[in-house]
Amino acid sequence: SPNNLQGYAPICLGLEDFYIRRLYLRIQDCFGRPISSAPDAWFDVVERFSNDNNKTLKRTEKINRCLNLGSYNYLGFAAADEYCTPRVIESLKKYSSSTCSTRVDGGTTVLHNELEECVARFVGKPAAIVFGMGYVTNSAILPVLVGKGSLIISDSLNHNSIVNGARGSGATVRVFQHNTPSHLEEVLREQIAGGQPRTHRPWKKIVVIVEGIYSMEGELCKLPEIIAICKKYKAYTYLDEAHSIGAVGKTGRGVCELLGVDTADVDIMMGTFTKSFGSCGGYIAGSKELIQYLKYTCPAHLYATSISLPAAEQIISAIRVILGEDGSSRGAQKLARIRENSNFFRSELQKMGFEVLGDNDSPVMPIMLYNPAKIPAFSRECLKQNVAVVTVAFPATPLLLARARICISASHTREDLNKALEVISRVGDLVGIKYFPAEPNKL
Ligand code: PMP
Repeated sequence: SPNNLQGYAPICLGLEDFYIRRLYLRIQDCFGRPISSAPDAWFDVVERFSNDNNKTLKRTEKINRCLNLGSYNYLGFAAADEYCTPRVIESLKKYSSSTCSTRVDGGTTVLHNELEECVARFVGKPAAIVFGMGYVTNSAILPVLVGKGSLIISDSLNHNSIVNGARGSGATVRVFQHNTPSHLEEVLREQIAGGQPRTHRPWKKIVVIVEGIYSMEGELCKLPEIIAICKKYKAYTYLDEAHSIGAVGKTGRGVCELLGVDTADVDIMMGTFTKSFGSCGGYIAGSKELIQYLKYTCPAHLYATSISLPAAEQIISAIRVILGEDGSSRGAQKLARIRENSNFFRSELQKMGFEVLGDNDSPVMPIMLYNPAKIPAFSRECLKQNVAVVTVAFPATPLLLARARICISASHTREDLNKALEVISRVGDLVGIKYFPAEPNKL
C-alpha cells in the first residue's frame, strides 16, 4: 500500500545502485507519485500566516496547524514586520505589483538601482545586478560568463540551478568531491596540465563553483582553502550564498564574514532573496566591469520583466533592519537568535543520538534517516504531532541517504524548539533513527 511503505527498503539494501534506482522508480510508477508523498505523510497544499512570524503553517485538507521547521525563513522576514511591511504596502500602492517591462525597455526604476546599490554595499562588492528569480540567476548567468573552450569545476552537491546553468553554457564541466579542496586541486592539475608539464593553459577561463552553505548537507563551504587553490591555478571563484547570506556572519554578510574571507577574493558572488530577506529574486555581485558586461549581455536581464517593486522594497527594508539602519537593534537580535537557535537545536539533537549533518552556526540541519521507507513514517508521525519537517530523498540525495532537513529560524522561540525536540525524539524512537547512544539526561 502506498500508505505503508515500510517493507520496501530492506529489499533494496544490498543491491547494486543501478538496480536500486530502477526498483525505486518502479515503486514510484506503481503508485503514480513519489513515495515520499503518501497523503497523510506530507503537506502538499498549505496556508501560511504572517502574524506569527510565519513559523506555523496549516494543512488545508486537515485542520492541524503545525510548527514550521521546513521554511527558509531564516531571519523571520517572511512575515509581517513593523519596518518592512508598511513600506512594501506603500510601494504596492505607489508602483503596483509589476513593472510589466523588461529592465532595458522601461522596467528599470529608481528603486531597482537603489536595490542594486544596496545589495552591492551589503555583500561587499563594487556592483550588483538583480533578477526576478534566484534559480534563473544561476541558470542564466553561467552561460553568459563561460562557453565552449572554458572549464567549469563544480562541487558535486551544487544546486540544480548551477547544474543546469553549467550544462547550458556549453563549457566543459568537471565535478569535484563535495567540499574537498584536495580533490579540487587534483582536478585542476589534471585539467590544466593533463598530468604533463605544459607551457600554455588549454582553457579560456576556469570557473570553480561552490555554495556558502550546502542546502542538503547544512555544511559550510571550505572557502579559504578553495580560494587559495583558485588563486594558485588562476581560476575564478563563483560563490552561491542562497543559504548563507543574511543567515550567518556577525552582521549577516554570509560565509565570507563568518570565515574571515576578504570578498575581494571571491570573483562572482551570487545569492537569493528568498531565504533570509523574505522576498523573491536573486543577485550577482562583482566588479563594476563584470556587472556592466552582464547588463549588456545577459538575456535574463535584457528580455525578462524586472523584479517586482514591492519585492525590491522588501529586500531593501530587510537589509536596513539587518544593518540597524531602521534605528533599532532588531537586526542584531535576529542574527544572534538564529545563531543561538541553530547551535542549541543541533547540539540537542546530537545529544539525543541522532546523526545530524552540517556545521555549527548553520541553520540547515539534516537528520539522517538513510532508509527511504522511513521518509513517510518520520514525516507522518511528526505531522500527527503538529510539527512539519521537510524530508529529502532520491534524486535530491543519493538513494540510501534519505534525510529530514530542518531549517531553523530566528522567529522560533525556545518553547517552539523544545516542543519540536520532544516530538522529534519520540518519532526518532518510533522510526528507529537514533543511530548513536544518547546522553543519559536526553533519553
Ligand atoms: N541556489 C541554491 C543553493 C538554492 O538552494 C536555491 C533554492 N533553494 C537556489 C539557488 C534557487 O533560488 P530560488 O528558490 O530563490 O529561486
